[in-house]
Amino acid sequence: MKNKYDQIISAALSDHGAQWQSICVDGITYTVFALPYTQLELPPEGYAFVDSYYVASNKAYFLRKKLCNELTQAGFETAECTLPYKNIAYYSGLGVSLKSTLIANETFGTRMALEIVGVSGVFAREVSLSEVIKKPDISEICRHCGICEKLCPNACISDGAFIRERCIRSFQEASDFPDEASAQSIGTQLWGCDICQRHCPFNKHLTAREMTAEEKELFSFDNLFSAFSSGKKGCEPYRDILGGNYLRPAKLTALTLNVIANSSNPEKYIKYAEASAQHNDIRVQNAAHRLLNIINKRS
Ligand code: SF4
Ligand code: SF4
Repeated sequence: MKNKYDQIISAALSDHGAQWQSICVDGITYTVFALPYTQLELPPEGYAFVDSYYVASNKAYFLRKKLCNELTQAGFETAECTLPYKNIAYYSGLGVSLKSTLIANETFGTRMALEIVGVSGVFAREVSLSEVIKKPDISEICRHCGICEKLCPNACISDGAFIRERCIRSFQEASDFPDEASAQSIGTQLWGCDICQRHCPFNKHLTAREMTAEEKELFSFDNLFSAFSSGKKGCEPYRDILGGNYLRPAKLTALTLNVIANSSNPEKYIKYAEASAQHNDIRVQNAAHRLLNIINKRS
């Protein structure tokens, strides 16, 4: 059975450039796999940053589903993983644990999306439950670095803890900004924040890429506003980029207006603020008024 398991995993993941490791905890073998991605360069004026992690994460999600189906058809009993993914990645040897709470490995740095499949049976090295739930040790490199800690605009990263609710990703997911500083902190990052990873020494061997013509079309402020403000149908072209669960027109419209307000030329987009000032969603209204206030202050 072990050979069969390894063959199915290898056949499913090799073609995608993934790396994987397996460990067994309490009679369940978990295989954690990492799907790499290349991050985008910072966008030019008039465009938003959309983190390529989410594209990889979306692909990894569907790859995991397909792999689980193949394992079931081959006679394996699949099991959900309720253990922290990052612990499985660390204790299986897929990567090291970082101060920024991410996992990095030599090849992909932190530029990878993680997913896990579990099956009943012992097909890998066994690790006790008490071992695998222990907080992973932070890499020695982080102890002498601290770049992410200094650069994070919202001071989320510190030696002892990660303050998730202050992370830009949390603000974006809720499209809710408690104050002007939090709204400003996202800059022109519409989806995802790459500040702590862009400067992390674990990624120094990786180069970012320019947007493709298709991405330029999708991520221009004009097209983002037009797509999101036209409702669910308008959001559809962004399904594989943002993930199906995040296609909420009002939330994305509000985020777009906030990103425009943080840009170097908000005046150019005043018509979007005026068109949204009476919107029935308070997040959109707030973002439109913020954009109008910023334009007024600059004039
Ligand atoms: S930037 Fe430095 S401290 Fe932060 S995760 Fe990377 S290596 Fe660790
Ligand atoms: S993703 Fe951005 S906001 Fe979150 S910890 Fe990293 S730098 Fe800070």
